[in-house]
Amino acid sequence: MTAFLARIDAELEEIRAADLYKEERPISSPQGARVSIGGRGGDVINLCANNYLGLADNPELITAAQEALERFGYGMASVRFICGTNDLHRELERAIARYLGKDDSILFAACFDANGGLFEPLLGEEDAIVSDSLNHASIIDGIRLCKARRYRYANSDMDDLEARLKEARAAGARTIMIATDGVFSMDGYLAKLPEIVALAERYEAVIMVDDCHATGILGERGAGTHVHHGVADGVDILTGTLGKALGGAIGGYIAGPQAVVDLLRQRARPYLFSNALPPMVTAAGLKAIEMAAKGDDLRERLHANTRKWRQGLSALGFDLLEGEHPIVPVMLGEAKLAQEMAKKLFDRGVYVSGFFYPVVPKGKARIRTQMNAALTDADLDAALDAFERVGRDLGVVA
Ligand SMILES: *Cc1c(COP(=O)(O)O)cnc(C)c1O
Repeated sequence: MTAFLARIDAELEEIRAADLYKEERPISSPQGARVSIGGRGGDVINLCANNYLGLADNPELITAAQEALERFGYGMASVRFICGTNDLHRELERAIARYLGKDDSILFAACFDANGGLFEPLLGEEDAIVSDSLNHASIIDGIRLCKARRYRYANSDMDDLEARLKEARAAGARTIMIATDGVFSMDGYLAKLPEIVALAERYEAVIMVDDCHATGILGERGAGTHVHHGVADGVDILTGTLGKALGGAIGGYIAGPQAVVDLLRQRARPYLFSNALPPMVTAAGLKAIEMAAKGDDLRERLHANTRKWRQGLSALGFDLLEGEHPIVPVMLGEAKLAQEMAKKLFDRGVYVSGFFYPVVPKGKARIRTQMNAALTDADLDAALDAFERVGRDLGVVA
């Protein structure tokens, strides 16, 4: 035990020495455009939540959750297939499927579990998975748990994807599944779905898209990247979360063809061996989907904020990754600089998070800012002012 803990301590020390140690800052207010954090009473502008539609503290969602809490109690104390399925679970699964334009869907405790449980029941050693190199950790882990042959293509490199598809076909793969994020969360880049769909047709591959950073945000009614790109039917399977635009609580899902959802209900391990979502979360999830589907005004506000924020930062001279997604990464290079800038911004009342290795490649540290529909023009002007001062302080901008 002593030797064990000494080794763990040494590893922690290494993380600290490399300036890669992540500290958590507890928030003592609801999640929102401005939060109370670190003893500052409700005046800190939050630019790092996945609260894209600003629904995390929405009164209608809170009421929906409260009513379900009163009516159905606190927890299910069971997995779904034993005695954990409440009326609301099936209602939510059907609502998600309708929203995304798929036959049916199946709920998980989180999208991490959805991605963890997706591949193994659907694909065996005769099959192949072709995966984008920047896919979310949960896709990578899910693929590891599956016996299919693994192929990886460079991020959004369609020539490389085609080469891997050829390789998989030449190796005699039965089913080939292409796996990609709809939006790459560190960069805010959208996957090239029209090209991916065309390649999938040519090589008879199935496509799964993780749309965690797109559902509620992109495409008509916020249905996601498959709708945004006009290839709704070309994308076979979608995974997503209730933990971002759709209220920000917890919960994940897989949507797709009826047979796929039915088999996952029989075989997906995180579904079979983990607790059902609480009714209050399920009820609020239903309300969140209703609001997101009708939420053109929220999306207008979100995208207007994104445009204003990008223009403002660019005008100040910050190095941004191009794009139109509400993820707006400010590139800084070294982890230490990203940490220091985040700290100085916090001192000026702007909460952002530095991202660095191993979450992004070495030398590509950044502050990932995220817009949401709850932020006002005044919030953004104040945040731009803080970025200008701190950026000059640190010599990031002239
Ligand atoms: C956030 C995220 C997940 C995990 O979702 P949870 O529901 O929080 O587990 C999975 N994939 C992507 C691309 C994500 O951004």
